[in-house]
Amino acid sequence: MSYELNKKLKSIEPYEPETGTYPVRLDANESCFDISEKLGDVISEAVKKVEFNRYPDPTAKEVSEAFAEYYGLNPEHCTAGNGSDELISLILSSFLDKGDTVVTLSPDFSMYAFYGFINELKIKNIAKEDDLKIDVGKVAEFCNNNDVKAIIFSNPCNPTSLGVRRQDIIRLVKNVYCLVIIDEAYMDFWGESVLDMVEEYDNLVVLKTCSKNMGMAALRLGFAVAGDTISNAIKAAKSPYNVNAITQAAAAAVLRHKPMIMEYTAEIVRSRKMLQNAVTELAERYFTIEKVYDSVTNFIFIKTPKAKEIYDKLLQRGVSVRYMGSYLRVTAGTERENHIFLKEFKEVLSLL
Ligand code: PMP
Repeated sequence: MSYELNKKLKSIEPYEPETGTYPVRLDANESCFDISEKLGDVISEAVKKVEFNRYPDPTAKEVSEAFAEYYGLNPEHCTAGNGSDELISLILSSFLDKGDTVVTLSPDFSMYAFYGFINELKIKNIAKEDDLKIDVGKVAEFCNNNDVKAIIFSNPCNPTSLGVRRQDIIRLVKNVYCLVIIDEAYMDFWGESVLDMVEEYDNLVVLKTCSKNMGMAALRLGFAVAGDTISNAIKAAKSPYNVNAITQAAAAAVLRHKPMIMEYTAEIVRSRKMLQNAVTELAERYFTIEKVYDSVTNFIFIKTPKAKEIYDKLLQRGVSVRYMGSYLRVTAGTERENHIFLKEFKEVLSLL
């Protein structure tokens, strides 16, 4: 007899990030700056103090306090996760019961639907408008008319790079009965956060990550920020030692260097603006670029019917970007990386 996987596992397509080695990597929305170059000593001092034979602090107290201090939050309202990815999975699996309805939007970060599926939730997907924007009124009405238990989306959005303004998010949170999970992975590149609203609205959870503007993707650290009831429930439902001690120590040390992180964040925003302007200019010459969206993130989103061809050709030239159907998503890089990308991109466009 051979063991048989259940139907759900048989149908799963594994998430396959780019794993090849390319001189220019602009495919994963990471920070183009390695924070350890400047804070290497601070990080090694913190890591040296880790007791390797002991389990990590299950409450991740020190790093949660440093995170709360960074954003001016109550540390009790911040729960650390092994990347915000773990928190997406944890919240969907514990706050909803099997068969409950969760609303996702599309296009959006694919892991929401993935974890919804794994947890046997009913996923109602609302397609965004033609301009890829979100009609908040329509979404709220849908939630209230369809016995929806939770809605989850990224703001600003990965992959569209577009943002929903704070007052519209608040309008949504106020007008629906369900849990609203706002993934603010890229919000530090914009500034329309609703983090400060979690005490006011007991159905709001904001997810944050240290993987983007903070340049700590390697550490795997994210936070769920919510009021008392939701925070206590997340803490109760999480696995006890979910964030390892090295991550807790290193990230706590880095988070205490807010001015440096802010400086890098501002530099990344400058880089994205430069990239956006340059590609918008190219779009005037090369009609295969249909649209460059108004990004408020650390990446740009380009609509082109030739996305696959461009992606393949760029890869052959050592430049990795993200290919998504009729779109390309390009992470803002260092000056040098942007320069190489633009040079190769232009050449590829001229060959089409
Ligand atoms: N949310 C969004 C919108 C993302 O784009 C990503 C990373 N691609 C994540 C969450 C995951 O972040 P983390 O590294 O904290 O798991």
